[in-house]
Amino acid sequence: MILIVDDKPENIFSLKKILEVNNFDVDSALSGEEALKKILKNSYALIILDVQMPGMDGFEVAEIISGYSKSKDIPIIFLSAVNINKRFITKGYASGGIDYITKPIDPDILLLKVKTFSRLYEQTRELNEIQKTLREEIEFRKQAQMELKERVQELRSTLETIPQIAFTAKHDGSIEFVNQQWLNFAEDEETFPPSHPEDVNIQEKWEEAVAEGIPLNMEARIKRVKDQEYYCHLLRATPIKEGDKVVKWVGTLTDIEEQKKAEKRKDEFLSIASHELKTPLTSIKAYMQLLERSIGDGPNNENYEVNKYLSRTQSQLDKLHSLIVDLLDISKIESGKMVFNKKPFYFGTLIDSALDIIRQTNPDSNIIRKGAHNPEILGDEMRIEQVLVNYLTNAIKYSPDSKEVIVETKVNGSHIKVTVTDKGVGIPPEKINDIFKKFYRVEENSHRFQGLGIGLYICSEIIRRHNGTFGVESEVGKGSQFYFSLPVITK
Ligand code: ADP
Repeated sequence: MILIVDDKPENIFSLKKILEVNNFDVDSALSGEEALKKILKNSYALIILDVQMPGMDGFEVAEIISGYSKSKDIPIIFLSAVNINKRFITKGYASGGIDYITKPIDPDILLLKVKTFSRLYEQTRELNEIQKTLREEIEFRKQAQMELKERVQELRSTLETIPQIAFTAKHDGSIEFVNQQWLNFAEDEETFPPSHPEDVNIQEKWEEAVAEGIPLNMEARIKRVKDQEYYCHLLRATPIKEGDKVVKWVGTLTDIEEQKKAEKRKDEFLSIASHELKTPLTSIKAYMQLLERSIGDGPNNENYEVNKYLSRTQSQLDKLHSLIVDLLDISKIESGKMVFNKKPFYFGTLIDSALDIIRQTNPDSNIIRKGAHNPEILGDEMRIEQVLVNYLTNAIKYSPDSKEVIVETKVNGSHIKVTVTDKGVGIPPEKINDIFKKFYRVEENSHRFQGLGIGLYICSEIIRRHNGTFGVESEVGKGSQFYFSLPVITK
């Protein structure tokens, strides 16, 4: 908007007409005082200022305007009866533009000047805006950089205080910071401590993880500089992302040597204990059978009571036997001595046999079979049957209020999938990933149901060694679906 300041309304009228015809917005003031009030209130792109006015004259008005920070950049065109020299224009008006027009006004000259000054004002305003945004942006970046620096410093101090070896790396995997512990194992600050020649190479695994941008989680023995001995460590490195992009890595190497040794001692103990327990148990079972045979039924079934207790003892011995066998299996898995006697066999027949075993030991349960597939499979039939029996036993054990268990087979291309569905207690979602781990039992159920938490671990090993897959879906209170799938022989 343009402000015209003149004490004569007729002058204002004619100027206004010229400008409005040319699409300019125009405002007016009849005195210097009125003009100053308006300037404070509104914003103008140009002021056309009459020099000779009663009271405050044009020069005085201009001087005051130059003192307001809001209006100091507004260009001014003076209107005067005589040609004025620039030196008449009072001090300090260092605005974007100043000019004059003598009366009588030539409309063409006036329009030319108004257009030039308005454009100049617009450009100055835009430049100021850009400058302001840039300044804010620089300030914001400076602040962000400072915060980042503080955070990096904080992270480094934390990594320095923890007992583990710790490091950070750039997005491309080059090591950026290492704590003091690092130097107890590594030769320098840029390369990982050397891993044992028989173990997976840390540097290689690290490069793979960096290339894929996925967390690294591995165990390896690394050599300590002081005694040149190897100590088992757990390496964990996590990518830190901004959006989808990895910007940094943070990692630790935790000494798990003692834990490993303790685990080894426990495995050795389990192996010895289960072997030692199995020998007398086998003898007891044999003696029990002899005892059962030698007692017989008696003339009028008078040994009924004795036989009843003998048969109960026999069934408890069977349970004990299967526990010991499971423990022995664990030892075999740990020592890599679980051997599989693989031969082709029919899978449907195996299911029938497993269902027979389960129905005999659990006569009350209602096991429904769905799907009648009978493909040939290359594998250890006894071991696969062990998996299915384990799934079924669990389905019955963890469903105290439902007798129904469904066994369903589906053939999908080159694989057969078996699903065992129960309507039992289910498994909480946060526990589901641990179910197949060694000695894992869901805590909520561990007092209610007996077990050692090894059955599923053995199952997982058997399936893995047959190139199969396994898993579970479950909902607490509704039931579980355990499945495994194996490759079939395709002709
Ligand atoms: P165990 O049954 O001897 O504890 P498993 O290895 O067979 O050991 O199972 C591990 C754990 O998985 C069990 O302790 C139980 O908490 C859970 N689980 C297994 N099968 C089921 C099932 N069908 N329903 C609910 N929980 C189950």
